Amino acid sequence: MDIIHLLPDSVANQIAAGEVIQRPASCLKELVENSLDAGASRIQVIVRDAGRTLLQVIDDGSGMSETDARMAFERHATSKIATAQDLFALRTMGFRGEALASICAVAQVEVMTRRKEDEMGTFLEIHGSDVVRQEPCQCPVGTNFKVKNLFFNVPVRRKFLKTDQTELRNLLTEFYHIVLVYPKVQFTFVHNDEILLELPSGTEKQRIEAIFGKSGGKSYTGQFVDVATDTELVSIRGFIGKPEAATKNAQQYFFVNGRYMRHPYFHKAIMTAYSGMLTGETNPSYFIYFDVAPETIDVNIHPTKTEIKFRDEQMIFQILMAAVRESLGKFNLTPSLDFNRDGEIEMPLGDLDASKPHVVFDPNYNPFRTSKYEGGTRGKERTVSNWEKLYAVPERPVVPVNQDQPAVLFDTPIADLTPYKYNKYLLLPSTAGLLLVHYRRAHIKVLYEQYIGQLSAGKGVSQQLLFPEVVDLSPDDMVLLAAIADELRFVGFELEQFSKTAYSVSGVPALLNAQDVQTALTNILHAVRETGASATDRWRRQIALALAKDTAIPYSKTLTDEEAKHLLDRLFALPDYRLTPDGKTICVLLSDTDLARKFE
Ligand code: ADP
Ligand code: MG
Repeated sequence: MDIIHLLPDSVANQIAAGEVIQRPASCLKELVENSLDAGASRIQVIVRDAGRTLLQVIDDGSGMSETDARMAFERHATSKIATAQDLFALRTMGFRGEALASICAVAQVEVMTRRKEDEMGTFLEIHGSDVVRQEPCQCPVGTNFKVKNLFFNVPVRRKFLKTDQTELRNLLTEFYHIVLVYPKVQFTFVHNDEILLELPSGTEKQRIEAIFGKSGGKSYTGQFVDVATDTELVSIRGFIGKPEAATKNAQQYFFVNGRYMRHPYFHKAIMTAYSGMLTGETNPSYFIYFDVAPETIDVNIHPTKTEIKFRDEQMIFQILMAAVRESLGKFNLTPSLDFNRDGEIEMPLGDLDASKPHVVFDPNYNPFRTSKYEGGTRGKERTVSNWEKLYAVPERPVVPVNQDQPAVLFDTPIADLTPYKYNKYLLLPSTAGLLLVHYRRAHIKVLYEQYIGQLSAGKGVSQQLLFPEVVDLSPDDMVLLAAIADELRFVGFELEQFSKTAYSVSGVPALLNAQDVQTALTNILHAVRETGASATDRWRRQIALALAKDTAIPYSKTLTDEEAKHLLDRLFALPDYRLTPDGKTICVLLSDTDLARKFE
């Protein structure tokens, strides 16, 4: 008997929905993006119980015809692209035609929609992919989407949702990512009948102020300076916080072609530009908007992923860093620097290669405006003062190999190499030159990815403690710990509230030393508190990083050959093995040319 058959659409859509719609926030994102794609100038978001019972998005966009309204819920139904070629010139937020099909598979959806040219609108009600009602209706031009009882037919998902407080934070984070790129569009956000945000149409700066400015306090954006640069590769605009306005909880946002993105490597460019200007553990705020030709970034990004690949990443790194420096310099922000300090300004590779001739930054130099750049300061011997050092463009702090194919790095499998151990580094030959790997950072990176995996899978490996440990906490840490208790369980902690002021821990992540429980928890709470009231995924990154730092090999311990190989094997299997999650360099490559230069 043949046993293979095609899944009914409703089941296929429900499976696909798992990818696209993971929580109320992903649903909100899809709906609001659709409204923007429909050219709306006013968008209202109405939420109940953090999106569990109701997520409603009302727009004054184009609306849909009766047939389109019906079509919109089919899988791969889209009005935004027609051919594969269109993928390379995307200017809309959506293009996959998956969102509505996914949402209606896992919720009860009602939509009312009308185009300007139609007298009557269309009302449509769909429960778990089944159309239960469709009729003409009276309604304003635009579209009004109600998503009720999300995951009503997927109990596992529903149970997996976090507390309302956390889900609401996720909703807001997702909302910020969108509204920050559409300042002209008017938005409101209502939760349980309370208006949380009312954002009038305005400039980007006004939008930022409306969201992050404290009412009555001093102007948030008053602490900003503008960044602007235009090259053939990229145009960069935005705002950066003055160094003295840096705080522990900085707002840091990158956008590309109207989309929010995370980009640890570009983050590093900004931090490098600020080096020497920040005190303590403070961070500058930034809101940077990139504009690039759509074909130079990877469009086929997963709907829930926020990392974006750039073709000219290293060039843009340099351009961004130069632009930020220029702004900091132009607005006279540099004099707060201590010019008496010598060589303390931390630069990638700085300490490794102090003898290398410095490339001096010339604010008027733009590699893309002139094609025959010969003159300038490049290559000329110059005495470099501290001021100029600040403007030195460091060599890119990365391994210049194709990021997608770490395998091309080596002629021989890593298992057959014996890395040489020197100091904090592992040395090994690669096809591109001599590679130095900072082993503790490498370990942090590998463990971080492992913990992130456990956090999203919801299961980590735990070791039982012989005697449960009681950890005393301050009242606010008690609240914070309660909020992240689930995440901690995911990475292997077994813990329960013991009293009003203490938790009892009976199990810990497999790699953690039993005697380090208190410290590890304190470090995690500290890291999470630093991120402020933010989204779970940001918390998760903090938890994973804090834990990775606590369980990574200390400098005092040396690796065995086997451990070293294993570590490198895992490191180079990661897509981005060059930087730690907090932007520190893991690998440095000394190319044959670098070496030859040393022996000149
Ligand atoms: P995509 O946005 O990738 O095209 P969706 O499933 O999100 O896919 O939407 C399917 C189609 O439904 C869109 O291409 C668009 O034509 C239509 N649509 C969805 N939401 C709206 C809206 N708010 N206003 C007008 N049309 C909409
Ligand atoms: Mg869409």
